[in-house]
Amino acid sequence: MGKKRTKFAANIYVISLLPLILLAVILLIAGYPLVQNALVAEAEQDLQDTAVLTESLLDTVWPGDYRLEGEEALYLYKGDTDITFDYAMIDAIKAKTGLDISVIYRDTRILTTVTDKSGVRAIATGVAEPILKQVQGGESVFYHNVKIYDTEYFAYYTPLKNSDGSMAGLLAVAKPASQVQSEIRQVLLPFFLIDLVLMFVAVFVVSGYTRHFSSALSSLYSFLEKAADGESDVEMDPAVLERHDEFSQIGTSVLNMHRSLRNVMERDPLTQLFNRRSADRKMKLIMNREHGEETDFCISIGDIDFFKKVNDTYGHDAGDLVLKEVANAIQEHMLSLGFTARWGGEEFLLVFDRSKLEAAGESLTELLSRIRRLEIRYGEQLIPVTMTFGVSEWDPGMTLDDLIRSADRKLYYGKENGRNRVVVHLDPEQEESIPEEEPEHGSRLEARAQS
Ligand code: GH3
Ligand code: MG
Ligand code: MG
Repeated sequence: MGKKRTKFAANIYVISLLPLILLAVILLIAGYPLVQNALVAEAEQDLQDTAVLTESLLDTVWPGDYRLEGEEALYLYKGDTDITFDYAMIDAIKAKTGLDISVIYRDTRILTTVTDKSGVRAIATGVAEPILKQVQGGESVFYHNVKIYDTEYFAYYTPLKNSDGSMAGLLAVAKPASQVQSEIRQVLLPFFLIDLVLMFVAVFVVSGYTRHFSSALSSLYSFLEKAADGESDVEMDPAVLERHDEFSQIGTSVLNMHRSLRNVMERDPLTQLFNRRSADRKMKLIMNREHGEETDFCISIGDIDFFKKVNDTYGHDAGDLVLKEVANAIQEHMLSLGFTARWGGEEFLLVFDRSKLEAAGESLTELLSRIRRLEIRYGEQLIPVTMTFGVSEWDPGMTLDDLIRSADRKLYYGKENGRNRVVVHLDPEQEESIPEEEPEHGSRLEARAQS
């Protein structure tokens, strides 16, 4: 069972967790580029907007053209102003937007917010040839992999033009690529966390449900296993029957099926008494009871007198009716004393549990007078019935066969000596009058004929 339950639980886990795992994988494979594209586009727009703003600020604050002046050292002028070391404006823009700004004259950075690790501005550094070439054509360009001091940047380059339309240099606006990457991660992270939380919730819910289902399944399984092993007093776990799902219906059906099956196996269909096989089993259970428990018990074999005549006179159906009525009377009488079985054709076995021989004999005498008084009506007819009983007490030295044989011999003696009586004791003389083997009325003969 353990194995089956694990497999069942594993299947449920796969069914419920697989979609969530797939969701995480899809987020990673499809979501990452989607988010990346969106954020890169946003970054590009940012860079472009900031470039436009910066360019117009430069022109507004310092109207005029860009030019270099000086003898020994060269300084960058815009209009009449030397802007070579005038970082205030670009630093302010960086503070506001988080983006790096560089003003490049021809191919050399003059003003820049980009610094190396120790905070020194990247002044006088050059710009890569292909970028220059492209921007010189008059277009603005984006680059996703510009390296400045070993740091990757997203950068936007746009030409700076003088009033005659000639190109003075470029304006570069840049953003570290790692910043974009971390923004992508920040967007995706909550989704992963939600997925993770969902997985935990799913594991929790599923394990609860699985336990719920498995316990019902294992209860049903153990019931069926015991029932199949022929265990007589197997009980259904009440928790299964109290459920509000299909398991309780299955449980009820299984229980009903087991009852019908047990009935067929243990009972005689005509009288509904126990059959010979189950009587055998029950007697063995009594004989094997724990020592210390009360071991007294008696058995009696009772046979209807001249039953053949009933059949011959009133018909087989009347015979069946007599059997049922007699069975009912015996059953009722034995209710609190022990149990009754149909031993053969018109023979009954009565087991007096925890009873001494004398008490059993008295009880049988009472039963016989009750049977004599039965008014069994078949159509217009009233069928009189008498029976003969032999009864014996078990002694722990006896086998079940010994005990049955003893009761049988007493029954035989009763039949031979007038019928319609209960035989409790046989004195040695009476014993001798009984043939050793196969008495005519003995149950052995009938048992053989039956099987
Ligand atoms: P005795 O007093 O010596 O027991 O005589 P008896 O006629 O009762 O005994 P015998 O063994 O000669 O006959 C038993 C008869 O019981 C024969 C058989 O046809 C009949 N019988 C056995 N089982 C059934 C049954 O299920 N229904 C009916 N109607 N008759 C049955
Ligand atoms: Mg008989
Ligand atoms: Mg008989």
